[in-house]
Amino acid sequence: MCRERLDNGMHISQMLIDGSAVPSLSGKLDTIFNPANGEPVARVATGGREEARLALEAARRAFPLWSALPAAKRGDVLHQAATLVRQRSEEIARLLTLEQGKPLKNARMEILSSADVLDYYAEEGKRDYGQWLAGPHTRSIVLRQPVGVAALITPWNYPVDLLAWKVAPCLAAGCTFVAKPPSLAPLAATEFVRAVNDAGLPPGAANVVHGPGATAGMELVESPITRKIAFTGETGTGRAIMAAAAAHIKRVSLELGGQSPFIVCADADLAAAAASAAQRAFSNMGQICISVNRIYVAEEVAEPFTEELVRRAESFRIGDGLQPDVDLGPMFSRSQREKTKEHVADALGRGADLLTGGREPEGEAFSKGFFFTPTVLGRADHSMRVMREETFGPVSPIMKFKTVQEALALANDTEYGLAAYVYTSSLKTALYVAEGLEAGGIGVNVNNVVNMQAPFGGWKASGLGRELGHFGLDGYLEVKHIRLGM
Ligand code: NDP
Repeated sequence: MCRERLDNGMHISQMLIDGSAVPSLSGKLDTIFNPANGEPVARVATGGREEARLALEAARRAFPLWSALPAAKRGDVLHQAATLVRQRSEEIARLLTLEQGKPLKNARMEILSSADVLDYYAEEGKRDYGQWLAGPHTRSIVLRQPVGVAALITPWNYPVDLLAWKVAPCLAAGCTFVAKPPSLAPLAATEFVRAVNDAGLPPGAANVVHGPGATAGMELVESPITRKIAFTGETGTGRAIMAAAAAHIKRVSLELGGQSPFIVCADADLAAAAASAAQRAFSNMGQICISVNRIYVAEEVAEPFTEELVRRAESFRIGDGLQPDVDLGPMFSRSQREKTKEHVADALGRGADLLTGGREPEGEAFSKGFFFTPTVLGRADHSMRVMREETFGPVSPIMKFKTVQEALALANDTEYGLAAYVYTSSLKTALYVAEGLEAGGIGVNVNNVVNMQAPFGGWKASGLGRELGHFGLDGYLEVKHIRLGM
């Protein structure tokens, strides 16, 4: 068990090292608070460099056992892991809502989709074929072999899903791992890995270390035991990790920040475009790497589109994520909300119009949580922080354009390149824009670029490498050429 109940009803979330629940070596316990009301949710055993070292050593010991199994056997364990995650999904989802704030229905979807990812890679791992090349007096065999121990480091906005995207291909490829969930939301992620561990992995194949990125996280990045780092988080942290990984030329995959544009052409289905933009801009309170961050709308349809977007923004039911029928919970933290307010104030100071939102909702129910109203800004331009930096909050700035060429240039005027969206009824325009956008995932008349079987990842400062689909396995495999003389 990774959890132990205290007298006051709160549980302690322990680390998972070498198949066992492990307390902090220093005895340090941190408290996790509910962003909806500020109340304590659980205590967490907080580790550091020493615990990370122990976990890495356990993962190294387990590697020869796990990697030696045939892919089909590893697939059986992954299917069992998916079953256990589904069985425990209600409990894990509740922890996720309590620590992160998202509505329970969204938390459930996140846990169940994480189980699906385990099932997917249970099968995809079996399809990892090599090559056989015949020459006149030689034969070449090309093998793909697991890279070794992986460090899986993840953020707080989708702490289970984003970890599942790493755990599943890592294990399917034959690697072992140490996960480092976010310090302020480690509970659900730890229970997810515990379920995976309970599915029949050798002790030490799956480990979780709690603790600050600067100590526990950096030990995982710097240790010579780690052969692969899979990281999701801020672009600045990704830069630091990439620099540290250079010391041992470690394999690195980075899923980093985004600043996704959403282009609405004059011939678009405006009702569909507004509904889609609102959903992708405001769900999870805008704390999504592929959130709609900047809307460019053809000037001749700007008015009806904006009216509909405002109407949609005002229709969301905000509240504690455990309440039924809530669409939007609180933001994750006070600092996220402060940053959002700063971006809104900066835009208003530079000439934007506040069309709705921009404030905390009123009432006793909201007084202790980090709530914020979905915000739509008109007359936005690229001098504003909200158009250039990642807000990671529920804000939709709108800017008008005259030509599709202009919209494309504006959309690409950013260091980021994770997702981008276009709404149009013309196939020609759709292809022109989709081919011209500098981003790893393009949504055409759709507001989600995630498909478990397709690659997900960023261009430019949004990342390196791909997750999901067959591409997701590549980062955990080395290629070897064996040449036979005949
Ligand atoms: P951070 O980069 O602050 O943290 C992510 C993880 O890295 C946490 O576990 C953190 O630990 C750890 N960490 C921090 N510093 C280091 C370090 N020096 N060495 C090793 N590990 C470290 O990101 P946030 O948690 O704030 O998440 C939000 C960000 O994630 C946004 O920028 C968002 O765009 C991005 N993101 C990207 C996605 C993508 O697929 N491209 C998907 C989702 C989010 P600790 O919690 O202790 O600080």
